[in-house]
Amino acid sequence: MSEAMLVADRLTRHFGGLTANLEVCITLERGKLHALLGPNGAGKSTCINMLSGDLPPSAGRILLEGQDVTGLDSAARSHRGIGRSYQRTNIFPQFTVLENCRLAAQSRRPRPWRIFTDAMKTRDTVERAQAAIVEAGLGGRELRKAGLLSHGEQRQLEIAMVLATDARVLLLDEPLAGMGSEESAQMVELLRKLKQNRAILLVEHDMDAVFAVADTITVMVEGSVLESGPPEQIRNSEDVQAAYLGE
Ligand code: ADP
Ligand code: MG
Repeated sequence: MSEAMLVADRLTRHFGGLTANLEVCITLERGKLHALLGPNGAGKSTCINMLSGDLPPSAGRILLEGQDVTGLDSAARSHRGIGRSYQRTNIFPQFTVLENCRLAAQSRRPRPWRIFTDAMKTRDTVERAQAAIVEAGLGGRELRKAGLLSHGEQRQLEIAMVLATDARVLLLDEPLAGMGSEESAQMVELLRKLKQNRAILLVEHDMDAVFAVADTITVMVEGSVLESGPPEQIRNSEDVQAAYLGE
């Protein structure tokens, strides 16, 4: 049984005379990883920015578990469980792993705080940060300065920070960028675990990684969806090969 968590319904975005997304439709399901492919400038980051609330669409709707969240900003969407990472790293290098994750954890859903004491709040934040660190594979490195982590560990930390917000929908913009093959393989394993009880949208150029972990692939070209379907369909699509994969 599939369960639609986040739906992009005919999302369109213009920048002046440029149409960066034209009626893009994507459905993210719990337990599934949906990869978004396309050449540079195809509109992938624009799509993520609209789903996260960082960029208002020119037209179209975004539904989270059936509710229209198009009018909510990124903070409000984060409180409802949509988390994102950025194409460029977004950590505080002078802070430790734990401090970075505590900051992220503090920014999440404010609702229960009213009935919490400060001590309970602090404990809850630390526990959530700690759990996110372990889930992202950084257990034991809590007190390291983020800036001293390897590149791969920094990308893991970014994921931990998204997890610390209790996100159920993960929007990940090129989390494997700049990684070596061993780090990439670890990240693929991590994505496989993370998708089990969440919905993931992955923008990624590493084809081996995408085909290893994606349940559905959408290919965008020049702002529009060229084709969307299971990996085998995309791999064998002549349109996709002609437009993108055939190098
Ligand atoms: P991708 O992530 O697939 O490489 P983007 O979504 O970043 O593509 O960009 C799609 C198109 O929209 C590109 O032509 C890009 O130059 C343009 N674009 C993206 N963001 C902006 C912006 N803030 N202002 C103007 N043009 C933009
Ligand atoms: Mg991009």
